[in-house]
Amino acid sequence: MLCFKEAIKLIEGEFLQLTKNIIEVNLSDSTGLTLAEDIYADVNIPAFNNSSMDGYAINYSGDEKSWNITGEISAGNFKDYTLDVNSAIRIMTGGKIPTNTNAVVPIEDVIEDGSMLLLREGIEIKQNQNIRYKGEGLRSGLSAITRNTVLKAQNIALAGACGKTKLKVYRKLTIGVLVTGDELVDITADQGEDKVRATNLYSLLAGIKEINMNSINLGVVKDDKDLLMSSISSALNSDLDILITSGGVSVGKYDYLKDIFKESGVECNFWRVNVKPGKPLFFGKYVKGNKTKLIFGLPGNPVSSFVSFTLFIKPTVLKFYGHEDFNSHIAMLETPIKKEDSKRHFIRGKLKSDAASNRYFVSVPGSQSSGNLAGLSNSNCLIVIPEEMTNPAKGEEVECIMI
Ligand code: AMP
Ligand code: MG
Repeated sequence: MLCFKEAIKLIEGEFLQLTKNIIEVNLSDSTGLTLAEDIYADVNIPAFNNSSMDGYAINYSGDEKSWNITGEISAGNFKDYTLDVNSAIRIMTGGKIPTNTNAVVPIEDVIEDGSMLLLREGIEIKQNQNIRYKGEGLRSGLSAITRNTVLKAQNIALAGACGKTKLKVYRKLTIGVLVTGDELVDITADQGEDKVRATNLYSLLAGIKEINMNSINLGVVKDDKDLLMSSISSALNSDLDILITSGGVSVGKYDYLKDIFKESGVECNFWRVNVKPGKPLFFGKYVKGNKTKLIFGLPGNPVSSFVSFTLFIKPTVLKFYGHEDFNSHIAMLETPIKKEDSKRHFIRGKLKSDAASNRYFVSVPGSQSSGNLAGLSNSNCLIVIPEEMTNPAKGEEVECIMI
């Protein structure tokens, strides 16, 4: 059976068929998008020498202890005073400093007595203190933000400081989610005797939002060949980039999806991967004209569906946009794990860091059933137990993928 790493390689290979179009968006609409250009500073940042404190601008020669207050500059209201060693200008944070200033003394370090300013006992003044010099953050013309950065508030602030009102970014992929099963009801409906809330719909839509892609809710479809055929065919003929289904890809009598994909013209890259949970994963592509759609048929068990998304879809989308695929840590097992087969296991774990030893430790809380959403919700990582590893003992080092 296909191993995890081969499966990832096949998926990454098919991602290359998708187009990563560049679009332009307003700075204020760019949060979470991936920058498709390099941004340079169009001005010095800061643009002028200014005070970093509320205080007094002085021209310090090394031994003055008192000054005459001869003027005031607040932020945005510059007046061009020229300082001599005996004069001080009251200045506010962000105010442009006057000619000959070589230090700003904070308000807390002086006593104001009428128009006189006295240095408090024991206070030392250092040259250049509390002055932010022109261009010390970034010189005009230098690189500010590099292509492929995922735009966060801090990057957007810097782009704004560089005068960018529009940014070139990569278009988001549009990913549709369709969940299947006769037993599924919407979370608003009565569960009756034997029905199940269709939680995969919500976990997958949320996962897509977490990676900043467009999600489309294609709803719940019964295990009915005709209904499935028409839902899949309309998804394949829509403008989706990726279709994700959940359920109906295993070997049960009503697991129709593999056949339906085949009959609809989806080429199968693989079905089943040597992992636990999530073995019956289907991956294929649908090519029409010059457009390729990637098709992921995930198993229906809620944990399997989540883990499959986390392992096979999330990292490959992130990599497609030039980002780190997995955020993982090496940790020491706090509990032994029973694992005797040759699959690659992904165990729901709780990772914590120990500041004193600067190490990570991971424990395994609760049941590992692939239906256990409570256990999943209480964990923060997937512990990777590779194919060749069996029954790792307490104290062994393992890789933990953060979720
Ligand atoms: P399947 O992969 O269709 O055989 O489903 C496996 C298990 O997952 C069954 O117990 C289903 O009831 C459950 N299941 C399937 N789809 C969902 C869903 N969307 N939300 C929650 N549970 C599901
Ligand atoms: Mg089913």
